[in-house]
Amino acid sequence: PAELLEADFYEFQHLLTDREQQALREIRVFLETQVRPFADDQWERAESPRHLVPRIAELGLFANAFPETARFPNSSVFRGWVAMEISRADPSTATFIGVHSGLAMTSIAVGGSPEQKAEWLPRLAAGEMLGAFGLTEPGHGSDTAKGLETTAERRIGADGAPEWVLHGAKRWIGNGAFADLVVIWARDVADEQVKGFLVRTPAPGFSATKIERKQSLRAVENADIVLDGVVVPETDRLQNIAGFRDVAVVLRLTRADVAWQALGVAVGAYECALAYAKNRRQFGKPIASFQLVQQKLAVALGDITASIALCMRVSQMQDDGTQRDSHSAMAKAFVTARMRETVALCREICGGNGIQLGSQGEVPGDIPPGYSVARYFADAEAVFTFEGTYDMNSLIVGRAITGIAAFV
Ligand code: FAD
Repeated sequence: PAELLEADFYEFQHLLTDREQQALREIRVFLETQVRPFADDQWERAESPRHLVPRIAELGLFANAFPETARFPNSSVFRGWVAMEISRADPSTATFIGVHSGLAMTSIAVGGSPEQKAEWLPRLAAGEMLGAFGLTEPGHGSDTAKGLETTAERRIGADGAPEWVLHGAKRWIGNGAFADLVVIWARDVADEQVKGFLVRTPAPGFSATKIERKQSLRAVENADIVLDGVVVPETDRLQNIAGFRDVAVVLRLTRADVAWQALGVAVGAYECALAYAKNRRQFGKPIASFQLVQQKLAVALGDITASIALCMRVSQMQDDGTQRDSHSAMAKAFVTARMRETVALCREICGGNGIQLGSQGEVPGDIPPGYSVARYFADAEAVFTFEGTYDMNSLIVGRAITGIAAFV
């Protein structure tokens, strides 16, 4: 079995197959040697870990969810644990991968024709090109279903083939400043339905500007995008997207992954705090010996344990085809709320040293590089908000409970 994760108190990981556990072990070695030690510096520089793409692709981290590209048959539960492990080492790296393989590739897997899937999924899985997902706009975040303003107008091109012209703006687009392929969601001016377009960059009329001075998930490069008459051939319109309902299918799948990612943020913070509590001495004793510190650790581990159980179940439902929007919305809302409590308690345990990053070769306040709780504390805020805020996911659950949509 994979060596036991201490924070997996009820040993859920043992439910994975031997092959999945072996893959998880291999991924952990990569994360502990190539990602965690450099994560604080990467965060401070606000640069995405693009240099890791070949190894990430080799390990199958872009590819596992899609039958066309998976390295071996695997479950959503396995992929959830992988998302947790990546986030546990570095939430920014988990988001960098999640935007590419979760949002961009899932859009193609859900909305693409067989030809589009065959054209794009293998290349994206191999990391030959990077993807992004453009839904949010400067004026529309939570209300994109109704409010989306980016337009798509169909016309016949000079070569006699149908094509689309895109106008509008997008905001917060992860990987947007360097992605080779950006999925743009736009409203058809003729039938007012939301459609998906694969924009190959660079493209005339397409510009992307990195958003600077972020204070959460700093190693994810988000962009403001402007679409000023970008032309997309009909062959690059996602053929199986009929409206926003299909975008919601993509979000249902990726939200479950984000719940696992949030769990990884909590586990990362918990491990920092536990190590620190055993090491740090006050009043002549390790702070781990104080009742109030133990109580905080017990609350954090309870949050983590409940979150693992919910994540496991939502992924099993994905595998057996019974998962509904409200299931993944509840998982995302619940786990991100528990994550927020956990990172706050864990930061508290680390005292003043809990607000400082570590650094390679330099160990401030007994914090080894990659074990600074401050990064998890800050990163939790973006995870709480993206892929539907806590409020919006709660309202999706509220709609399922009452039959009344409170947000239209
Ligand atoms: P708003 O929608 O303006 O919400 C502000 C507040 O009002 C929130 O607390 C919200 O819950 C609340 N609120 C809004 N409506 C209601 C209501 N009806 N009832 C109760 N409360 C309500 N988007 C992409 O398309 N692609 C990406 O790759 C991407 N990556 C991101 C990465 C990061 C780091 C961040 C921060 C965001 C990213 N986003 C991305 C955007 C993200 O999905 C949005 O930020 C999110 O959906 C919230 O939208 P908003 O920020 O416009 O907030």
